[in-house]
Amino acid sequence: MPKFYITTPVYYVNDVPHIGHTYTTVAADVLARWRRLMKDEVFFLTGTDEHGAKIENKAAEMKLAPQQYSDEIAAKFQKAWQELNVSNDNFLRTTNPAHIRAVGKALQQMHDRGDIYLGKYQGLYCRGCEQYKSERDLVDGLCPDHKVAPEKMSEECYNFKLSKYQERLLALIKKDQIKILPVERKNEIVSFYEKEGLEDVSFSRKNIKWGVPIPWDKSHTTYVWADAFLNYLTGLGWDGKAKKSKIENLKSKMFMWPPTVQLMSKDILRVHTTIWPAMLLALGLPLPKTIFVHGYFKINGQKMSKSLGNVIAPGDLVKKYGTDASRFLVMSAAVFGHDGDISWEKFDDKYNADLANGLGNLVARVSNLIEKNNLELKIKLEVNGHLPLHKKYAALMAEFKFDEALKLLWQRLRQADETLSEKKPWAIKDAKAVEKILQPIAQDILNVAGLLKPFMPAIAEKIIAQFSAGQIKKGENLFPRI
Ligand SMILES: [Zn+2]
Repeated sequence: MPKFYITTPVYYVNDVPHIGHTYTTVAADVLARWRRLMKDEVFFLTGTDEHGAKIENKAAEMKLAPQQYSDEIAAKFQKAWQELNVSNDNFLRTTNPAHIRAVGKALQQMHDRGDIYLGKYQGLYCRGCEQYKSERDLVDGLCPDHKVAPEKMSEECYNFKLSKYQERLLALIKKDQIKILPVERKNEIVSFYEKEGLEDVSFSRKNIKWGVPIPWDKSHTTYVWADAFLNYLTGLGWDGKAKKSKIENLKSKMFMWPPTVQLMSKDILRVHTTIWPAMLLALGLPLPKTIFVHGYFKINGQKMSKSLGNVIAPGDLVKKYGTDASRFLVMSAAVFGHDGDISWEKFDDKYNADLANGLGNLVARVSNLIEKNNLELKIKLEVNGHLPLHKKYAALMAEFKFDEALKLLWQRLRQADETLSEKKPWAIKDAKAVEKILQPIAQDILNVAGLLKPFMPAIAEKIIAQFSAGQIKKGENLFPRI
């Protein structure tokens, strides 16, 4: 059985789930469900990243212990994915004790091999925050909380010999041994390697308590990235030691290693194509096969931000449109891999056009006509994969073209609609003649429903149950108009 291991990033608990997390997670779920339908052995991992100074500060602000704060936010992510019917096989939290033990062991091994050494961390330090700031944290060069420019400071830290892996990783990326998609993202990364190159990177911090202690020097904690990346391994039950040869003997899910696809947004692509694979090389573990980067959503042409108050939360989507429609709307909102522009108005329009007036209306009209004419159609769900519709759909899914896969199905639904309008079976008295018109349309609806399973699992099953019954009856309204 082919293996298919798919991951989302572990989401940082400094924020509650929003549409960006939703996009990555639902896309991963669509792929996981599709590969399960194709009879692959699938493992789908998501989770939360819970360590670091930001979380320590955020928890303090809310007068909570960091663990308590993390528990609350992690629960929000889990609830969001449940509401969206996400079928992840594990939800890995980086505060999980087994994860923490494995991170310690992994770092110890890298240290023993000479890939981690004592050095200096140089960075921009804000005295108000009592922490280093990355360029990304700053607004016009100033700490957004204290409105002062942070100072250049340095402190002792443990560095990872990232530079050592420059040539090997560049060659692997160029040869698509780690395939980066879309290809323009690969080109960006190759050009980063060629123009800037890899420098050693700090793997520890001294003044941050909320993290995984460095095993040989407890005055340091592990830098969040080094901790977070290893979730992709510990999420399968990895204990921090096993090399490939031992992995296959483990009774854990580690036989699923390496990831077939790692999905993420573009802001974390660079670390995922530099530090992450270098860590795997240092640990002697196989590399992920494909890294797919999707774009960002703008909301009404603006960046999503709390201060603009335009953040869309997954819970709001589900409340308004229901689980399956929300999944559909998110997945059809943009070309996967490119940026998209969304808004509540656009979601409403799409919902009414494609779901209420489209799929929902067609299913209602056709089932109603079949019931009225008392027809017994001989149709059944075709899943052999040899139909042209299946083949086209499978090819699009293999290329991560979710929006086009959906368009393909809606083309078929529109054709069915046109045939109905043309042949007007409701005006025909002869049941045999009506059956001749409705039979192929009902078969198309059934086939489309079969391929909708990854996107709209519950609705697809409803339609399949309705149209597979000997006596097809008009069912409930699938998509009430907004
Ligand atoms: Zn500050």
